[in-house]
Amino acid sequence: MQRDTFVEKRSVLRRLRNRPERIVNLCFLFVLIFSTLLTWREAVLLEEAYISSQKNDLESVSSALDSKLQFNIDQLLFYRHSMGEALQTPLAFTVLRNEVTRFSEVRRLTWWQLAVEEKRTLPLKGVSDAFVARTSLLSRDNARLNNELTAALEVGYLLRLGAQPDLAQKRVMYVSRAGFYLATNSQERDYAIVSRYYHYVTRPWFTLQSERNNRAGGLKWFITPPSPEGLDEPLITASVPVWFDRYWYGVLAMDFSPLLMKKLLAEALEDHAEGLYQLYDNRLHPLISSAGQSAAFDKRELAQLAHAIGNDTQGGLRMGGRYVSWQRLHHFDGVLVRVHTLQQGIRGDFGSISIALFLLWALFTGMLLLSWVVIRRMVNNMYVLQHSLQWQAWHDPLTRLHNRGALFERAKALSDECLQQKRPFSVIQLDLDFFKSINDRYGHQAGDRVLSHTAGLIAGSLRSSDVAGRVGGEEFCILLPGATAEQAASVAERIRALINSKEILVKKSTTLRISASLGVSSSQERGNFDFEQLQSIADARLYLAKQQGRNRVVASSPS
Ligand code: GH3
Ligand code: MG
Ligand code: MG
Repeated sequence: MQRDTFVEKRSVLRRLRNRPERIVNLCFLFVLIFSTLLTWREAVLLEEAYISSQKNDLESVSSALDSKLQFNIDQLLFYRHSMGEALQTPLAFTVLRNEVTRFSEVRRLTWWQLAVEEKRTLPLKGVSDAFVARTSLLSRDNARLNNELTAALEVGYLLRLGAQPDLAQKRVMYVSRAGFYLATNSQERDYAIVSRYYHYVTRPWFTLQSERNNRAGGLKWFITPPSPEGLDEPLITASVPVWFDRYWYGVLAMDFSPLLMKKLLAEALEDHAEGLYQLYDNRLHPLISSAGQSAAFDKRELAQLAHAIGNDTQGGLRMGGRYVSWQRLHHFDGVLVRVHTLQQGIRGDFGSISIALFLLWALFTGMLLLSWVVIRRMVNNMYVLQHSLQWQAWHDPLTRLHNRGALFERAKALSDECLQQKRPFSVIQLDLDFFKSINDRYGHQAGDRVLSHTAGLIAGSLRSSDVAGRVGGEEFCILLPGATAEQAASVAERIRALINSKEILVKKSTTLRISASLGVSSSQERGNFDFEQLQSIADARLYLAKQQGRNRVVASSPS
């Protein structure tokens, strides 16, 4: 078994050595695969670096946006805290007390307004007792009313201070269950107070802050979708319920208009402006976008994105020619999405490095293929040349048989092999009769023709394991490995008869019958496998054949 595999390996090696172009092909294929793998690995590393740079960009924008949102949320929570403090320990200012007294005068009016120190605090705007009594979520609890009114006026001071005039897009309001509200940036006319209050107390950001809906009292985000009547863009509202002494007083809310959100996003972008940033709510409705474009995805893509976002709070995926990354915000109930197109990618650093990498690979592969073609051709030529040189070194060009040197070498190897395998080894020596006279009569060329003709006859009458060679001018030697003395003698006889049987055309219209004398020797006679001795015995018998009259075979020595 082991020997078999060894022999197999050796035969593979020999085959490879005999077909050098295969080695060249293998080497080039190996280099091509190796260089392609290396380039591929570089490309993968490059892609990973690109993805992490995308994530970094998105992360820094989302954390900047988060901190801006947190500032506003902190403000809202601060107002709620102040409201709680004011409810616990109301200020005992006369102005405030007067306002509370005025309230008892106006509380039955359809709408009313308490504007105290209008430049310092915000006016309280409200509806009638009857309005409050009609609506189940509302309640005018007289025992708590005085404190709430003073607290609301007090927080009004803070709201006014906190309101930035340049941020008209932001509105902070306190909406009480007791039929009144106060809000920054609100200049509605008196008669609009009722509809405005009704609007406020029917918004989800108010109704969903009741004890049943928000027991924990935490901050909630609400999106009011664009509506045909008023809003043409979604309005984002954050709201917190105001609780004190286990009583739900109302809701503090902050509106973020799309314009404000866009401004916050633009500030968060700073130097990461490349690519499109979009803010989505938690159900993946688009809210705002850093560029004009509002819908970056079709339905199928949105579903794919929603699935991915559902699995991970941050990540990225390739969509067609774009790379989309996302990150959930900590201080907003939504997700920030970044879309980076292929064109933007190509224009960036990673794009130019990728192109350079690809060009390098293409250049290298092109050069490799070119050199493969050239080297293959060279190797093939060398192979052909080597073979022809080898053939010339081992053969006689006239007869195309082995030359003397080659025959001796083969003979030694074959006789050794036969000795080892305990098979007989026989030798035939052949010399054409009166060849000199053929030359003399018909010329050297005719002699040559006779030689090559004779060689053809000899070669045609041998087995593939036999070897014939030209060992002198018109002398041939034939090696018969495995042939007994009798078999060798019969081969010799067959050859003699064949040579003598045909006429050879030596010149135009001149034919000639030739003959040959042969001497045969075999290892069987004395158990001697030495080729030189066997040949000299065969030679001596050939000489005998000449003496006995030529055109005959002598296979044994006279006793
Ligand atoms: P014999 O029957 O005794 O062998 O007579 P022979 O004429 O063949 O005698 P010998 O073997 O001495 O003659 C060999 C001749 O073969 C001498 C030479 O002219 C001729 N010869 C040797 N080599 C070549 C060759 O390559 N081409 C040709 N045309 N003749 C050759
Ligand atoms: Mg001779
Ligand atoms: Mg002769």
